[in-house]
Amino acid sequence: MKHFPVFLSVEGRRIVLSGGGEAALAKLRLLLKTEAHLSVFAADPAPQIEAWARDGKLRLERRAMGPGDALCAVLAYAANEDAAEDARVAAIAHAEGALVNIVDNLQDSQFITPAIVDRDPVTVAIGTEGAAPVLARAIKGDIEERLSPVLGPLARIGKAFRARAEALPFGRARRDFWAEYYGGKGAQAFAESGSEGARGILDRLLDAHLARRAAPGRVAFVGAGPGDPELLTLKARKALDAADVVIHDRLVSGEILELARREAILLDAGKEGFGASMAQGDINDLMVAHARRGAHVVRLKSGDPSVFGRLDEEIAACEAAGLDWTVVPGITAASAAVAAIGQSLTQRGRNSAVRLLTGHDTRGFADHDWAALARRGEVAAIYMGKRSARFVQGRLLMHGADPATPVSIVENASRPDQRVIDTCLSRLEPTLTEAGLTGPALTLYGLAPRAARAAAHDIDLKEAAL
Ligand code: SAH
Repeated sequence: MKHFPVFLSVEGRRIVLSGGGEAALAKLRLLLKTEAHLSVFAADPAPQIEAWARDGKLRLERRAMGPGDALCAVLAYAANEDAAEDARVAAIAHAEGALVNIVDNLQDSQFITPAIVDRDPVTVAIGTEGAAPVLARAIKGDIEERLSPVLGPLARIGKAFRARAEALPFGRARRDFWAEYYGGKGAQAFAESGSEGARGILDRLLDAHLARRAAPGRVAFVGAGPGDPELLTLKARKALDAADVVIHDRLVSGEILELARREAILLDAGKEGFGASMAQGDINDLMVAHARRGAHVVRLKSGDPSVFGRLDEEIAACEAAGLDWTVVPGITAASAAVAAIGQSLTQRGRNSAVRLLTGHDTRGFADHDWAALARRGEVAAIYMGKRSARFVQGRLLMHGADPATPVSIVENASRPDQRVIDTCLSRLEPTLTEAGLTGPALTLYGLAPRAARAAAHDIDLKEAAL
């Protein structure tokens, strides 16, 4: 960046301009928007310059600029459209302490006048360091179109209201209020009933925002799905967009956390299912404390909040604290895992029921109706099954399950590092140990990957043909 953009204070200060032709007119049209005192030096000024002088908008000296004319000026423009004359006046102005611009001579100028989009007090200045004036004009055109023509009055009315808006606490509450005013409501009210309308809408918006502050916070239990951000529900995205505080489990992927509102506080509750690293009581307290001070808390749980998520305990904590709560369901790991192996959780003629099991619960290895599960055709999705693999395998075999029952382990389901391991009940435990799993893994008991089954079928056919 060879030129640094600044907004120079010119209110009540001198700006001098030498020249009386087209170049001078173009610059004067811009300079007349300012509150500076303008002095123009021109032996033969254009009629428009004379008219401005008559109207008291600038001081006109009908002669060439000479020594002493640029004293106390902040800016000086050489706009004579004559290189020798421009160089002469530029030298004078420079010696007298003004910053000098020679029109159409970037090389010898100390500053550039940018292309300007004027919605005073909002000003957008566009510069290309002389590289592409056409581009600057195109950008100016774009911005002119994008900014409401009434932005200037809206901003002035807004500025006068700033003291009253301080009734809202600094930070998000105040930002949201202004965002609503400038985001369309102000312009609409202005279009309908002018300045009065804009002032009226500010009053009403302030009342509404103050009332909202008085409302208690709330908690949304949101399912983050298995990891792929595209598997979030639209509702989950909306909740993340509106959250003040996000309390998330360790399994929630970073990509999903990035979708939270930039100002939201992110708190890691560190849990992986039942394997709590922050005590459940502490999580409940944290959630309640934030909601009580008026925050919108998103309790973000991997998969679906209602599956091995200790949802009921957290709901009970909200109810005990008198807080409103909602549940936004998510895609559970079992759904993502069967999708990964191309199978259904239920299938007509094979299994009309499916069990969601946990390998261990708060009391240790979980007990189940092993005899029922050991029957042919049964299907179960086993969550948190890594450490309990040997236990589960032993119980099932003990209750007569077929050692060849297919088992698929899906690690990091739906994530870029997803891995499918195809094994059978008798080999479950060694397979898991050998696989060296590092990510979350779901064990699908009774299901083999569709592709592997198809391949196995092919081999059977070939062998039969031999
Ligand atoms: N509420 C979650 C489950 C929490 S228990 C849900 O509905 O999915 C945590 C267990 O879920 C992990 O130990 C693992 O077994 C399973 N899990 C979660 N995300 C997974 C993923 N992306 N791939 C495989 N298993 C996953």
